[in-house]
Amino acid sequence: MAKHCPTCGSVIYSRRGKLCGVCSAPLPQALRLVGEQAGKIQAQSKQAEQNIRRLEQEQRDDRLRSNPGGLI
Ligand SMILES: [Zn+2]
Repeated sequence: MAKHCPTCGSVIYSRRGKLCGVCSAPLPQALRLVGEQAGKIQAQSKQAEQNIRRLEQEQRDDRLRSNPGGLI
């Protein structure tokens, strides 16, 4: 799973570095391990947030059904 520098094509050995070790070109965020992990975590928390919202909505619907007068 070697990454390559988009500027010079060299294999990037240190994925934590912000610059290519060969040509010193700045590396894109996507090539950095930290960036990949942050993206995954962000996607997961977004999914979790949507699940929570849906559960809350379902609970509200249940309450409205069992309390048609609006009194909880
Ligand atoms: Zn390079």
